[in-house]
Amino acid sequence: MKTLFTEQITDKVGEEVELFGWVASIRDHKKIVFIDLRDRTGIVQVVGGENFKELSAEDVVWIKGEVKKRPEKLVNTKIKTGAIEVEAKEIKIISKASPLPIPVAGDGYDVDEEARLKFRYLDLRRPRMFRNLELKSRTVTFIRNYLTKRDFLEIETPILTKTTPEGARDFLVPSRLQKGNFYALPQSPQQYKQLLMVAGIERYFQIARCFRDEDPRRDRAYGEFTQLDLEMSFVDQNDILTLIEDLFTKLVKELFPEKHITKTPWPRLSHKEVKAKYGSDKPDLRKNKNDKDELAFSWTIDFPLFVEQSKEDFFYGSGSAKFAPSHHMFTAPNPQDIPLLESDPLKIRGLQHDLVLNGYEVGGGSIRIHQPEVQKKVFELIGFTEEQKKQFGHMLEAFSYGVPPHGGIAPGIDRFLMAVLGEPSVREVIAFPASSGGKISVMEAPSPAADEQLRELGIKLR
Ligand code: ASP
Repeated sequence: MKTLFTEQITDKVGEEVELFGWVASIRDHKKIVFIDLRDRTGIVQVVGGENFKELSAEDVVWIKGEVKKRPEKLVNTKIKTGAIEVEAKEIKIISKASPLPIPVAGDGYDVDEEARLKFRYLDLRRPRMFRNLELKSRTVTFIRNYLTKRDFLEIETPILTKTTPEGARDFLVPSRLQKGNFYALPQSPQQYKQLLMVAGIERYFQIARCFRDEDPRRDRAYGEFTQLDLEMSFVDQNDILTLIEDLFTKLVKELFPEKHITKTPWPRLSHKEVKAKYGSDKPDLRKNKNDKDELAFSWTIDFPLFVEQSKEDFFYGSGSAKFAPSHHMFTAPNPQDIPLLESDPLKIRGLQHDLVLNGYEVGGGSIRIHQPEVQKKVFELIGFTEEQKKQFGHMLEAFSYGVPPHGGIAPGIDRFLMAVLGEPSVREVIAFPASSGGKISVMEAPSPAADEQLRELGIKLR
């Protein structure tokens, strides 16, 4: 396997090395030609002569040469390999590159986004995008290690499943074996993780893909996103908040040491308080909003359990109900407020918690309802028809066989990284995000289905 430049080269002065990489730039000084050769970890300067004349930018090459110390005056302190260069003895062009449709040097913010997404495999060649993907990978690894050490089990849940309402439109997948029936892609693993608590798993997590058919925004990719989905049994809200605060504090310290957290412990603010004081339930509590290294985490708690149902809440209820869940329909009411379920539902506080970072909601969760009668009452208040209640019959049934009190949270990985890295959109931390219109431009998805496919599924297009 090839070694990456920065691990391989810098301390090999005087030795012969073999390099594989892309020609990032060419500087032709007639008798000598310099190239910057790039791999995932950075660039190294290579010096050649005639044999470099047929190179063009972005060719993939193999080079054999000797590592030399650069003269003091020519040391480039901006790059990791800036103290050395490689004097090429042999070079082979492994594959030629046509002129690129988009520039790959520079940060790319000024390049048309549609073009960046169509040629994403080129766009990802820029060091900024490498770095984002690397930090995402390391973030996920950190989370896995942290939770596994604390007795959490990582468990997968189905992608082809049934509607899990999180307040968005479902993606449907037609079933071939049961014609006329459809799977829904999960808006989150919410019901499965609760069923895992009924199973006695006690501490679950998953780096989960969630699917929501809603319009893209800069803090939300169209179609799908990744979250750390987590659930625990026999906990109260404080346990969840404390765990997540510790996890992310340690993660920031290890992976983003240049960042500082505005205030610890993170402020826990009631919904009423933040709305009154900041006019938003996700306040930006940074002391200095121009400081790119400041991270202001906070919790918003004591949300109302219900909000008044609007016309847009078409996915809940029959449309005639007055109430919609503020979080989702499995969030528990504050036990002190349970009597208000009968008398004044809008006054009930829910055991919901939102994780806020620099003005973004980066996660939400709650203590869940575990009493079937309370769950039934909530279904009624949000106006579920008998048919809709039946859709969640499995939850009520599961809760009748011994259910532990439980709760959890799901911080969004893309959104967290966007906020920490100060990126303008979540698309900057996703390898192949959908563009506007829900297209994955690289693949030109979605695409029409063949007649035979549709026939097999029993589907006729209107
Ligand atoms: N399922 C919720 C969501 O995706 C998170 C949770 O309640 O744990 O936002």
